Amino acid sequence: MVIGVLALQGGVEEHAAILSSLGAQVRRVRLPRDLDGLDGIVFPGGESSTIDRLARAFDLAAPLRDAVRSGLPVLATCAGLIYSARELENPAAGQQTLGILDVTVKRNAFGNQRFSEERTVTVDGVSVEASFIRAPVVTRVGSGVEVIATIAGDVIVGVRQGHVTALSFHPEENGETRIHETWLNCCLGATSTG
Ligand code: GLN
Repeated sequence: MVIGVLALQGGVEEHAAILSSLGAQVRRVRLPRDLDGLDGIVFPGGESSTIDRLARAFDLAAPLRDAVRSGLPVLATCAGLIYSARELENPAAGQQTLGILDVTVKRNAFGNQRFSEERTVTVDGVSVEASFIRAPVVTRVGSGVEVIATIAGDVIVGVRQGHVTALSFHPEENGETRIHETWLNCCLGATSTG
């Protein structure tokens, strides 16, 4: 199984290390040709406006959007969630998104300081100690979008729309691998039936 990690900016290596430890072949994705033959792709956290700017500069944004629309499974975290969203409440100047997930997202929803509080979050029945770092929240979900994680009762921090799974926190810290493992099992299922 070949899994891409969008490698323009942000926490690329943390995701690559987890995916490798789970037996995936990892490819860092920077150029359109890097998308060829992938079984899935991870969008790491970082700075979503920088990821957007670099993706467009490398002519990657349009082929990446096409690949996802054609069924490439995505696991997006934090800035990756922001980059996936259809709409942002508070984009940076000129910031664009892929629009592959029918949600509205508020960036830096907990303030601009490093918000490093860890909370237990349950995703698909897996409880993890999640780090929220300048984390976004989802403020609107479209009709085809499933809420898969909340904190404080009703604050949405995880969503899924078909083959796109997105989390507002960092599941790649603290040595946690189960979120990736669950997602890889979904990928495998998707590729074996498709
Ligand atoms: N606030 C950042 C952004 O707008 C995301 C932070 C993160 O990925 N940890 O991109």
